[in-house]
Amino acid sequence: MINADRLKETFFELVRYDTGSDPKSQTSPSTKKQLALAEVLVKKLKELGLENVSLNKFGIVQGTLPENSKQKVKIGFIAHMDTSPDVATGPVSPLEHKYVGGDIDLKNDVKIAAEDLKKFKKQTILTSDGTTLLGADDKAGVAEILEMLQVLKDHSNIKHPELKIAFTPDEEVGRGTEHFDIKEFGADIAYTVDGSAPTDIDTETFNAFNPQITITGVTVHTGYAYHKMISAVEIANQFINELPKDETPSETKEKEGYFHVLTINGSPEKVKMDMLVRDFNYQRAQKRIAFLHSICEDLERRYPQIKIEMKDNEKYHNMNEKFAAFPEMIELTKQAIKLSGLTPKETYVRGGTDGAELTLRGLLTPNLGAGGENFHSLNEFVSLETMVKCTENLLNIIQVWIEKADKLTDKIKKISPCH
Ligand SMILES: [Zn+2]
Repeated sequence: MINADRLKETFFELVRYDTGSDPKSQTSPSTKKQLALAEVLVKKLKELGLENVSLNKFGIVQGTLPENSKQKVKIGFIAHMDTSPDVATGPVSPLEHKYVGGDIDLKNDVKIAAEDLKKFKKQTILTSDGTTLLGADDKAGVAEILEMLQVLKDHSNIKHPELKIAFTPDEEVGRGTEHFDIKEFGADIAYTVDGSAPTDIDTETFNAFNPQITITGVTVHTGYAYHKMISAVEIANQFINELPKDETPSETKEKEGYFHVLTINGSPEKVKMDMLVRDFNYQRAQKRIAFLHSICEDLERRYPQIKIEMKDNEKYHNMNEKFAAFPEMIELTKQAIKLSGLTPKETYVRGGTDGAELTLRGLLTPNLGAGGENFHSLNEFVSLETMVKCTENLLNIIQVWIEKADKLTDKIKKISPCH
């Protein structure tokens, strides 16, 4: 049913569009070039029989595949169109390698190490030519969703509920769900297809706050500054010195949380700092925020003439607390992965996913594997066989919900953001 060649062709077609997003841009989408791919996807969704296909001004593509069964659950599938601006994003020349062993050598001495490839012997490995990102993150996810829809179109005997599809811009610059309207999307539950291994269900992410701290100092001419000037830069330095040195991104791993000073800008008059505060446990994340407030208050006590303002800026929650309200969703997802002949594994991400933000806003959205490896680098790759497995997972997810959803109707109503 799943056609590997077609899946590869679709994937190659998608990666040839340079859709790098831009962290410095203020517009939505952050780069116009993402819209070129968005328009192609609109056309594809229409050809695949979806209804109400739209591309809104923010660059979000959406469409609905009407149900062909009585099952009432509405399932969303989401993938992002943009690619990481960390390395060159285009023009992409995708390559195909029948992998027999050893390193894969690409242009400019870029190589994919045998170590990274040992799980993929005898498989078809897809890469860029080494001069750019490949963009499997997340065009593998987009291609797999399209292949799933193609299979459903070709086999009208496969029962499915109403499916809600969305392709989003700007995930890589942390703005993927900024304009995503979960009511308008209309799904009861959803999946992002943006992870790595097909066995994995990402159900845990950090709890994330992005605090902004503004320090207003006291400035006078440096010639008359004696016992008068209180430099905001100096106060910022004192603030940073209060942070635990072993709780930074570079000193923590696995489920340890951290403080991170991301940017610092200013002058003796005023300093603005952007921070990241991350923790898997919500109470501990709140404690970290309270700790930052206590540093601010302490500094204000010591220097009554200065002013420090801190905005907490809560960004997303660890999804797993929300799944506690509907553990059946994760159970069914595991069953679907088992149907693909794989051993499912609940995993955590030391970061956020678009699904984590959507989950916080009320749409339960775990993240599924799309197959890519070595994300955000010139030696990114994906195995075609893995992409087939990931597509199989999507079809099996539909099947398990068709079989089991009617027993869960009340629960689905309760957790759905659309009821
Ligand atoms: Zn991604």
